[in-house]
Amino acid sequence: MENKPLITIAFDGFSSSGKSTMAKSLAKKIGYAYIDTGAMYRAVTLYCIENNLFDGQDLDTSELERQMDRIHITFRVNSEGKSETYLNGKNVEKEIRLMPVSSKVSIVAAVPFVRRALVKQQQEMGKGKGIVMDGRDIGTVVFPDAEMKVYVNASPETRARRRYDELQAKGDTSVTYEDVYKNVCERDYIDSHREENPLRKADDAIELDNSNMTIGEQDEWLLNLYESIINKLRK
Ligand code: C5P
Repeated sequence: MENKPLITIAFDGFSSSGKSTMAKSLAKKIGYAYIDTGAMYRAVTLYCIENNLFDGQDLDTSELERQMDRIHITFRVNSEGKSETYLNGKNVEKEIRLMPVSSKVSIVAAVPFVRRALVKQQQEMGKGKGIVMDGRDIGTVVFPDAEMKVYVNASPETRARRRYDELQAKGDTSVTYEDVYKNVCERDYIDSHREENPLRKADDAIELDNSNMTIGEQDEWLLNLYESIINKLRK
């Protein structure tokens, strides 16, 4: 097989925009590693909850700063080939996706020293290229030189509906569509208004609004974009 140049692929966008489904699927097709940076912010949030660093929505940031080097996040591939998140050696993949974490993660992700620590780890993970990384600041901060940058968008209603259906499918019947919609809007606001690395489209990112696209259409669109970038690099 002919060797293709390895590149870095950055996906950014609002919560539940479908970017992780797309990013995972593209990574699998082209044989790249996939890194879900949201899972890392979620794992730190779970640590804060489990260690009583939250009082309601108030986070004890000084205590978190003291404990930051006790938080170790890793990814391992399970027997079905899926990457799962581990917090200090414990599989937390399911827990980090539930509402208690979702309702607090944007607070943790706005803390500057948390971002610095995770960005550093992400840059380390991607330094050999050949990765697809998804998050909020990948094309702007983590890998500003990524060869392929995609900024994914969809209406808040579409995104809340997807997230709600996902939670239902996982058997979480304790939340209503309205709860999810409220959480999506809250996170949109915090993620795009925080001082440190707010979510924004990188100037050289290509925007994809997938509100009315099927998964198959998205996959094809991405693969075409990837191929066109690879072809340009070869010239
Ligand atoms: O992608 P996901 O929705 O799982 O991310 C959870 C939260 O983590 C986001 O709402 C955002 O607050 C934060 N996040 C971030 N920067 C990233 C990835 C996620 O601030 N690169």
